[in-house]
Amino acid sequence: MERKDRILTGDRPTGKMHIGHYFGSLKNRVKLQDEYETYIEVADVQALTDNFNNPEKVQRNVLEVLKDQLSVGINPEKVTFFLQSMIPEIAELTVFYSNLVTISRLQRNPTVKTEIAQKKELFGESVTYGFLGYPVNQAADITAFDATIVPVGEDQLPLIEQCREIVRKFNSIYGETLREPKAYLSQNKRIKGLDGNEKMGKSLGNAIYLSDSEEEIAKKVMSALTDPNRIRKDDFGNPDICMVSYYHKLFTQSEYENICEECRKGKRGCVDCKKQLIKSINAELGPIREKRKYYDENPKLVKEILMEGTSKARIIAKETMKNVKEAMKLNY
Ligand code: ATP
Ligand code: MG
Repeated sequence: MERKDRILTGDRPTGKMHIGHYFGSLKNRVKLQDEYETYIEVADVQALTDNFNNPEKVQRNVLEVLKDQLSVGINPEKVTFFLQSMIPEIAELTVFYSNLVTISRLQRNPTVKTEIAQKKELFGESVTYGFLGYPVNQAADITAFDATIVPVGEDQLPLIEQCREIVRKFNSIYGETLREPKAYLSQNKRIKGLDGNEKMGKSLGNAIYLSDSEEEIAKKVMSALTDPNRIRKDDFGNPDICMVSYYHKLFTQSEYENICEECRKGKRGCVDCKKQLIKSINAELGPIREKRKYYDENPKLVKEILMEGTSKARIIAKETMKNVKEAMKLNY
């Protein structure tokens, strides 16, 4: 029987979702939910790999990431949301796959390498076995659902590659069982942070959140990084090194060219430019914020969506486990 393409994607409950998620993945999810059978994971076990000392934070954010997704229009009638820690088959697969990947290969993974460097304070000189191995856990997520398409941001590409390697190794040793997934990148592969960092991230403190109030957005935009050489309003600006113009490209698309030209000619002051951006962001996020209010007031409903989805998802993971155990001669 031919197996249909299936989508698996997910988020770590390490904070509320930001505009990097919105342009980098959520808009895509809304579109793809009509085209493919889609599973969306709230990756609480993975979140613990670098938050093991802060379980409250992870628990608190489980429903938050779900609410963010419901607010942008991901429809629980179309997609299956599930909680990673309630699918024990993922943990089991992680153990099996950990034989198929070397320590040095994990250490060479560019995403893991960058993240370890960012987390020096937590890990000190030596990283935990769990964090180093999180790509293996992620390979288990993807393959547990027999997913072939994984919509992600650019930072995740090395992790998908790692998963593909694990699948190939598994199939070559135990026989053709798992399918190799492909990453699906959106047009906006990586959204930069307010501080100019290459990536806006929940754990990096440089994000505009979908749930930020109008006041919070105004405050953040007002302090966003702009061209440091521009002091007076009529100084010639360089929009290429300005975060305000960068976000205009996303939120004020139709006027973007004009905004840059005015900036270059010294015809637009930074304060006015920021005020215009605040308006554009609020125009886009206003309706999302409104919808979120409904879910904030109905946490029981949000939890029900997650629990129902998790029961449905577990059926698929159990099927995979049966096939994997058969292939590995563990079918007692
Ligand atoms: P953390 O800092 O805790 O890792 P995060 O902001 O990176 O949080 P994740 O939950 O790790 O968010 O990522 C969820 C998905 O969103 C992934 O597919 C990731 O590639 C994508 N994503 C995260 N940040 C960005 C960004 N700035 N631009 C585009 N996509 C992003
Ligand atoms: Mg991340």
